[in-house]
Amino acid sequence: MKVAIIGSGIVGSSAAYHLSKKEGIEVVLIDKEQDGKATSAGAGIVCPWVSSVKDPDWYRLAREGARFYPGLIDRLDKDGETQTSYKRVGALCISEGSEELDQIESDVRAKQADAPELGEIRRLSSEETRRLFPPLHENLESVFVSGAARVDGRQLREAMKNAGVKNGVRFVSGEASLVLDGRQVTGVSVDGTDLGVDEVILTAGAWVPELLNPLGVHLNVVPQRGQIAHIELPDMDTSEWPVILPQSSHYMLAFDDSRVVAGATRETGSGFDYRQTVSGVQEVTNEALRVAPGLAQGTLKEVRIGFRPMGEDILPLLGRVDELGNVVIATGLGASGLTMGPYVGYLAACLVAEEDIDIDLAPYHPMRSMKVNEQV
Ligand code: FAD
Repeated sequence: MKVAIIGSGIVGSSAAYHLSKKEGIEVVLIDKEQDGKATSAGAGIVCPWVSSVKDPDWYRLAREGARFYPGLIDRLDKDGETQTSYKRVGALCISEGSEELDQIESDVRAKQADAPELGEIRRLSSEETRRLFPPLHENLESVFVSGAARVDGRQLREAMKNAGVKNGVRFVSGEASLVLDGRQVTGVSVDGTDLGVDEVILTAGAWVPELLNPLGVHLNVVPQRGQIAHIELPDMDTSEWPVILPQSSHYMLAFDDSRVVAGATRETGSGFDYRQTVSGVQEVTNEALRVAPGLAQGTLKEVRIGFRPMGEDILPLLGRVDELGNVVIATGLGASGLTMGPYVGYLAACLVAEEDIDIDLAPYHPMRSMKVNEQV
């Protein structure tokens, strides 16, 4: 069987890597290197246990996504891919109010039995909090959750792609489109050349609806722009700094190269407007400095821009769509795609290989967000 995967973000590269391990499946992974691909801009926080999202189906997938990481990193390591950037640095949920922290602590403790991988939970004073992340404001206390991790989406995507290629995946650079027979997808072409495939996995993030349009199918997934600041702190060892989670949609995390990442805007209705805006930069830097004034003298190295693939509800779109032929859709991971993406890619691979899956995928089926135009 020959399978085409359109889009090599975190989801597509994971699907390709996991399919490459299965017998008798030939895999072609296609990408057009679109500006604003979400995986290249994503912050990289993996900490679903303290999210404000209450939907149990979202939490199940996010928790499984976080749980999937250590095994994946081990497998990639055995495949010679050691540069994944994944590290369990812990997270500090910060607040000035001790009542708010009481609530956070009790919410996380309630999840511990079901998710022991979230690790140790500790209440820290403002001094202890700043010892772990020195630029923070001196008034902030925290709840520390030791199992939280960070990952650079670019590095992990490349590691999975490279490991897949070593196992026989063919990577094709170019713009893919679907080959159609009426309302059935019969294959994939790249820049006009038909690849002659049997199955298709759509992992093109916010661009999946564009691929389905010629079928007369409207998939309700839209781009949400996120702008995120990368701040260099020369000569600082930031490699062990934890993720910072204030009680807002903003956050911070650090990487090994004296770099703090502060984000991010959530610009609903942005369309595919790939621009760094004055108000976007102002929002992320103001929020960062409010919480961590010690970043003020850092160097603003870069502002990354990405389009989160947002569905009409909080749940990803994942499933086989027999109505369209041999098509699996895996998109709509929104603001949690680096947490869930490797696991969702693995599940998409299992769907194509017709292997058993130990999670009920019914709540995520893409048909709930699909409308067919009978005129086409
Ligand atoms: P993408 O990464 O967008 O990949 C889609 C790919 O498809 C692209 O490479 C594109 O070039 C390709 N493509 C599109 N059309 C075609 C075509 N016709 N032919 C060939 N190729 C095509 N998630 C977290 O869990 N934690 C975080 O801390 C976090 N922070 C974020 C911060 C920001 C600023 C943003 C923008 C996102 C963040 N996310 C985070 C969300 C996460 O990054 C996304 O949900 C995830 O990366 C989506 O991955 P994807 O593979 O579905 O899509």
